Amino acid sequence: MKNIKNRGIPLSEAAIWLNADINPNSPDSSTAAITYADVEKAEKRLQRFAPLLQQLFPELETSQGLIESDLLAVQAPPLVPEGSGQFWVKADHALPVAGSIKARGGIHEVLEFVETLAEQHGLLQENESTCVLAQPAARAVLEQYSVAVGSTGNLGLSIGVIGAALGLQATVHMSAEAKEWKKERLRNRGVTVLEYGGDYALAVEAGRMEAAANDHVHFVDDEQSVSLFVGYAVAAKRLQQQLVAQHIKVDAEHPLFVYLPCGVGGAPGGVCYGLKHIFGEHVHCFFVEPEQAACFQLQMAHPERSGISIYDEGQTNKTEADGLAVPVASQVVVQMMRPRLSGVVTTSDDYLFADLYALQQREGMQVEPSAAAACSGPRALLNTAEGQQYIHEKGLAAVMAQSNHILWTTGGLFVPPEEYREFCARGERLAKVLFG
Ligand SMILES: *Cc1c(COP(=O)(O)O)cnc(C)c1O
Repeated sequence: MKNIKNRGIPLSEAAIWLNADINPNSPDSSTAAITYADVEKAEKRLQRFAPLLQQLFPELETSQGLIESDLLAVQAPPLVPEGSGQFWVKADHALPVAGSIKARGGIHEVLEFVETLAEQHGLLQENESTCVLAQPAARAVLEQYSVAVGSTGNLGLSIGVIGAALGLQATVHMSAEAKEWKKERLRNRGVTVLEYGGDYALAVEAGRMEAAANDHVHFVDDEQSVSLFVGYAVAAKRLQQQLVAQHIKVDAEHPLFVYLPCGVGGAPGGVCYGLKHIFGEHVHCFFVEPEQAACFQLQMAHPERSGISIYDEGQTNKTEADGLAVPVASQVVVQMMRPRLSGVVTTSDDYLFADLYALQQREGMQVEPSAAAACSGPRALLNTAEGQQYIHEKGLAAVMAQSNHILWTTGGLFVPPEEYREFCARGERLAKVLFG
């Protein structure tokens, strides 16, 4: 981290942890709880429901009911050395309907639930358009059911918005980090929002208990759900198409690096799972976490301590990255990532705000603090001794100039203007200090 030290800045910046258990050969997933066939089923399901989504959400008109974001060329983030390759943003900060990466997984799981109900009640005939589920007869059935979820904010937004649009009742159990505006947005759509003084793990547990007592409630379990995971993984297939369309090669001469903000692990894990299936050893996925809520890094580094909490290691869960404020990682996802994930980067809130501001200034992109975490990824890989070690051990040093780096900006669309202005003001001050 020489260039930062030289500026006399305290070194609370990105640290990188490398996963020694990564398997260079594509891991065999046939015995796992989740298989790639499940991802393909999820993709088909999202296609089947696209006409209904288009009808329910006019903003999906141009994409014919698919919820997808652009892949955009950008400058390298501040402090990244020249000649490190081409940088891209996978712009989930602008994902319609839910405003975050939670759109794919969350909406997929609610659609799967609705599909099950439709079968049970004979609401949807074979080859019939899913649009029939918006008709009064179907809605009269659906409104007797409800979906529930525990959330730090964005998953609740995703589940609540789609649930309400389909006519289901929806209850969101919100942890203490959840922003007021996210609760407001849900209440305005008739979603029940329950608030807890505790953290995300507690909100999930509360929701799980309540749902278990009622067989008309489907609980979206962020710590265990396969449906969420495969919904997230669909993003990898869509990204592959975008890479082809933009003539971006991924092979031994053109490594692909992907930086994904991580909370409980489901969203980045799904994406990584899909990308490793498609690109194997030529894609290198790094998660990024706040240093005060680095649950995934902790669990990866301590396989023998299943369910390890950040509090055990003195972290506080205090971060402005509400989407990442999670004390314990998903055990299911940790297992899936053990042979696939390259490493985990940890960063501080100061950098989140400085990067949020830099993205606004340089690219005109509005992201939330959680999403800005992606920008710490390449700095940690390219500016630290450990990161360089990774590049050399994988034999990538000679091809770095031809590499591609994707910053996955995971949320931001619906941040209220006043709140975003404050983020930018804070980021501007920090960018001056940290980036010069
Ligand atoms: C939820 C979220 C993440 C991380 O997803 P997990 O499944 O919790 O790991 C990243 N960014 C944003 C904006 C989020 O809302």
